[in-house]
Amino acid sequence: MKRKERAIIAVDGYSSCGKSTFAKAIARELNYIYIDSGAMYRAVTLFALRKGFVSGGVADTTKIISSLPEIKITFRLNGDTGFNETLLNGESVERELRDRAVSDNVSAVSTIAEVREKMVELQREMGARGGIVMDGRDIGTVVFPDAQIKIFMTATPAVRAQRRYLELLEKGMQADLTTVANNINDRDRIDSSREISPLRQAGDAVVLDNSEMTPEEQMVWFIKLFNERMNEN
Ligand code: C5P
Repeated sequence: MKRKERAIIAVDGYSSCGKSTFAKAIARELNYIYIDSGAMYRAVTLFALRKGFVSGGVADTTKIISSLPEIKITFRLNGDTGFNETLLNGESVERELRDRAVSDNVSAVSTIAEVREKMVELQREMGARGGIVMDGRDIGTVVFPDAQIKIFMTATPAVRAQRRYLELLEKGMQADLTTVANNINDRDRIDSSREISPLRQAGDAVVLDNSEMTPEEQMVWFIKLFNERMNEN
């Protein structure tokens, strides 16, 4: 596809409804950069876990805030996958970011205002030149309120738990369906009810419920939306 303008595309939504699979596919289709904003919050959480600043879903806010200057998050293109991998202080942590300990603690760390400020600043820098697809929880509402295209994704809780469970198994990680479903519920509850930048649908976002849709159908849906929007601008 050839486009004159390099847009910002925000993909927000609940945990495990296929945001990153969808966002990566559309980035590939448009030749845009894909940024996983959740990986950034996960990287801060991994740092905090290693230091003992968070456990059991309870974060030591003061210690995490004072160590923020020591946390450097960058992305590097992985030649094998064609996608960015996340580096925490220069170390590739892509796999550790999906560990259960990180999933169990990331929502607590993500409620800290100073953590969010730092991540949002980095995210805006990365999107400054457009040509970007970023997925997360507050991309269309807070990070890029002027994004040309905002998509809010959802799927039924059962579908989401099943997908996440299979994804973990495929990665060779230990998983149990009930535990996975509980973690998804907990994260959605904390993410939607936090005071700062809660997960919510932007007023001008388009909803994509992909419970019954294949990746191909989602792509057809997106291309139609993209063509309509970009022709309007
Ligand atoms: O997208 P992912 O499920 O990897 O995100 C992990 C967690 O990071 C979310 O449950 C949420 O607590 C936090 N997050 C956030 N804002 C974003 C992206 C992720 O608070 N933009």
